[in-house]
Amino acid sequence: MKFSWRLAILWALPVLIVGFFIWQGTFASANGMMSRNTASTRMTYGRFLDYLAAGRVLSVDLYEGGRTAIVEATDPDLEDHIQRLRVDLPLNAPELISQLRESDVRIETHPPRNDGAIWGLLGNLVFPILLIAGLFFLFRRSGNVPGGPGQAMNFGKSRARFQMEAKTGVLFDDVAGVEEAKEELQEVVTFLKKPERFTAVGARIPKGVLLVGPPGTGKTLLAKAIAGEAGVPFFSISGSEFVEMFVGVGASRVRDLFKKAKENAPCIIFIDEIDAVGRQRGAGIGGGNDEREQTLNQLLTEMDGFEGNTGIIIIAATNRPDVLDSALLRPGRFDRQVTVDTPDIKGRLEILKVHARNKKLAPEVSLEAIARRSPGFTGADLANLLNEAAILTARRRKEAITMHEIDDAIDRVVAGMEGTPLIDSKSKRLIAYHEVGHAIVGTLLKDHDPVQKVTLIPRGQARGLTWFMPGEDQMLVSRAQLLARICGALGGRAAEEVIFGDAEVTTGAGNDLQQVTNMARQMVTRFGMSDLGPLSLESQSGEVFLGRDWMTRSEYSEEIAARIDAQVRSIVEHCYDQTRQIIRDHREVIDRLVDLLIEKETIEGEEFRRIVSEYADVPDKEQLVFQL
Ligand code: ADP
Ligand code: MG
Ligand code: ZN
Repeated sequence: MKFSWRLAILWALPVLIVGFFIWQGTFASANGMMSRNTASTRMTYGRFLDYLAAGRVLSVDLYEGGRTAIVEATDPDLEDHIQRLRVDLPLNAPELISQLRESDVRIETHPPRNDGAIWGLLGNLVFPILLIAGLFFLFRRSGNVPGGPGQAMNFGKSRARFQMEAKTGVLFDDVAGVEEAKEELQEVVTFLKKPERFTAVGARIPKGVLLVGPPGTGKTLLAKAIAGEAGVPFFSISGSEFVEMFVGVGASRVRDLFKKAKENAPCIIFIDEIDAVGRQRGAGIGGGNDEREQTLNQLLTEMDGFEGNTGIIIIAATNRPDVLDSALLRPGRFDRQVTVDTPDIKGRLEILKVHARNKKLAPEVSLEAIARRSPGFTGADLANLLNEAAILTARRRKEAITMHEIDDAIDRVVAGMEGTPLIDSKSKRLIAYHEVGHAIVGTLLKDHDPVQKVTLIPRGQARGLTWFMPGEDQMLVSRAQLLARICGALGGRAAEEVIFGDAEVTTGAGNDLQQVTNMARQMVTRFGMSDLGPLSLESQSGEVFLGRDWMTRSEYSEEIAARIDAQVRSIVEHCYDQTRQIIRDHREVIDRLVDLLIEKETIEGEEFRRIVSEYADVPDKEQLVFQL
């Protein structure tokens, strides 16, 4: 509705403008005609002079400042018939007037007609008026003013920007892998369906539930499922939509939203990204944001303004509960918090089952294998993964999704689009050594995740890739594992240096080194894994909070800072020495693997390990991978 209006006006404006010019055109010529129409036939000036000399001209009416004349003259053939003829007069003929007077011709002049001028003026006004009206309509329809033709421009009141779904059609069965959250929220469904049960014993029904979790874990889906299970309408708005350019708009949106919700109770109000409005007030660089604070205050007021038994439950979602204003978390507001975490392997399997329901999978496809291969994937990632696989299947004109498409889809979701392989060149060789460097260090170190495959086919930003089979979502990572990962990440650069020499190393290791530094630094500052001892010196997040804890990050002295740097360096240097040694010691097999890689573009982990085992002992890491 809103859109079609705007479109209509956008289309109408050019039409109006073009129409105006056409109209002006006809107008102008009509103006001219007015004076001319009175005489239907024309006469040349020369003929007119002849007539004048012959004394047949009776009268001359001058128009347009003397440029045109209507002449009454007797017809040469029919003596007493009087003709009216139009003559265009030359501009510079002053003697004409005296000549006319001599011939005793009646002369009359006619000023330009006034009504023509009025029409012209009106014509000039019409266009700006139409333009202004058009702009006015555009503004009115742009969403800041309530509809209804009688109302004036009014930026303060909001047109509802929230969505309402009478029936979400989502059930708890559609949400998987978040069992604890579902259990807690089951209760909310009961509040909505059978409030009497609680009010009868004097229980106050909670007003707000805060869903906390990273993006894509199914918070929105859960909120919809609550509404779907309870069979109540679902109102949703995003925190960022509250915060508008005009002060006061956000607050009035909140008011409108609650008004509508009360009319439709029992219902669910879902506020996505509540951190956009709900940040700690008075915080942030450069003072508070008036608009945001007003919106938040309005939200708090509204939440206090209705009794818990009206049947409205507000569900909010955020991934930053730490920045929320404490007033939001007080009892009577969002006093319940439900964590929705990234799923573990079992959760991923359940989610895959949900999304595989409407997909055609080949019988050999094992959802367990996919779940195993996708640690760290959220529900949204998994949904996306199966969808990509289905798209690939359709593109390849296959009947059903096979493991092949699944593998390609995982690669694509993780590392981006596949590019075209490099042609043979020195730099292709260097990339091959770099990747084999990662892979061989990863293979030979006991504590490193095993290699899944090495490839020279570029993807996303990377020009070559080494994939490792991640061990199952380890909650705990040991010091030995961290060191092995640092070595593995250094393997690329070490190979470049050992094989091509110090001068030939490339920028290709930039990302690797960033990871290396991160891991080493965290070992020192967060996990107490260095000679500095078991101290926690930094909080988890590296980003600067614009919320509460801005400026409270460095909890240590300059001296400690210098010692941290020294520890980080010593860890990385130690690992780098070890890694270069591995490369030097296995030069023969590395050369062979590089040739094979350049020839085949991709080496699978199995084959890689088999070849390496012909030259060295490969530690057995199977149990590390397949634990469930
Ligand atoms: P969030 O709101 O936490 O960012 P969404 O609820 O918008 O995540 O999830 C996006 C999509 O990902 C959903 O529509 C659904 O298809 C899929 N998804 C996410 N989590 C789950 C889950 N736990 N179970 C099933 N599907 C999920
Ligand atoms: Mg969401
Ligand atoms: Zn690398």
